[in-house]
Amino acid sequence: MALPLPTSLSPSKVSTFKDCALAFRFSAIDKLPEPPSMPAVKGTTVHKALELLFADDASDRTPARAAECLDLALELVRADEEYIGLQLSEADADAFAADAVVMLERYFQLEDPRRVHPVGTEMMLETHLGSLLVRGIIDRLEEDEHGDLVVTDYKTGRAPSPAQEQSRLGGVHFYAFLCEKVLGRRPARVQLMYLGKQPQIITTTPSEQSIRGMEKKVGAIWSAVERACEHEDFRPKKSPLCNWCSFQAYCPAFGGDPDVARALGAAALQPAEVPVDLTVDLAPVAGVAD
Ligand code: SF4
Repeated sequence: MALPLPTSLSPSKVSTFKDCALAFRFSAIDKLPEPPSMPAVKGTTVHKALELLFADDASDRTPARAAECLDLALELVRADEEYIGLQLSEADADAFAADAVVMLERYFQLEDPRRVHPVGTEMMLETHLGSLLVRGIIDRLEEDEHGDLVVTDYKTGRAPSPAQEQSRLGGVHFYAFLCEKVLGRRPARVQLMYLGKQPQIITTTPSEQSIRGMEKKVGAIWSAVERACEHEDFRPKKSPLCNWCSFQAYCPAFGGDPDVARALGAAALQPAEVPVDLTVDLAPVAGVAD
């Protein structure tokens, strides 16, 4: 019996499929719940603070105002179930907030937000490639001094080594592709803004070739997903990323049984209707920040 196809593809799903087809299946098809991740929740907090900052007039976007935005973001996040699920001690909660403060300080090392002309923040763009729905959320879209579009993606994890830069830019090329399809304008620049240790901005210029290349790549990945669903053939691909994978307990590469994951995902969606043994422990998780 074929597995159900996912309803859409996003940059993170494309990246997950490329990294490990089985992890993609667990997440996008089995919809296995994942434990909350401290780096991911911290990233959400900093993204929210910057979103609030860019809602203000340009002249008000000062470090002092950013600190107020962060306080508000923390207040919002503390009420969220992902944050609550982290079950932080008082000391850990203080460290969490302190890390977010440092990331915002690093942000101001990289640019002056008073000089940025935002078109939108946290913008959901979606389009169809044939029957496939392709979607992505752009952290910030702005116009530069020439009126050209610039896509910015905030990253709260560590900046990549020079050898990893091109692969990390795959996601932003995806956003450039979405901009051109949805807004009819190709961005002049797409950039990754790293707010972790050694903050830096990595920039690339989309071209006709890179946009068409991304369109082809998304189509090819979708075909591979369709084939994998049809044949129920999602294979594990061991790599250093396994150390942060939430699904190790179900992964055959680590002695697990993927069918247990499938039943667990079904149980999470329909808890009253699907009888299943839920005794498998979730692997400890140290998620990777986006
Ligand atoms: S543990 Fe590694 S091989 Fe297994 S599903 Fe996760 S990423 Fe893939």
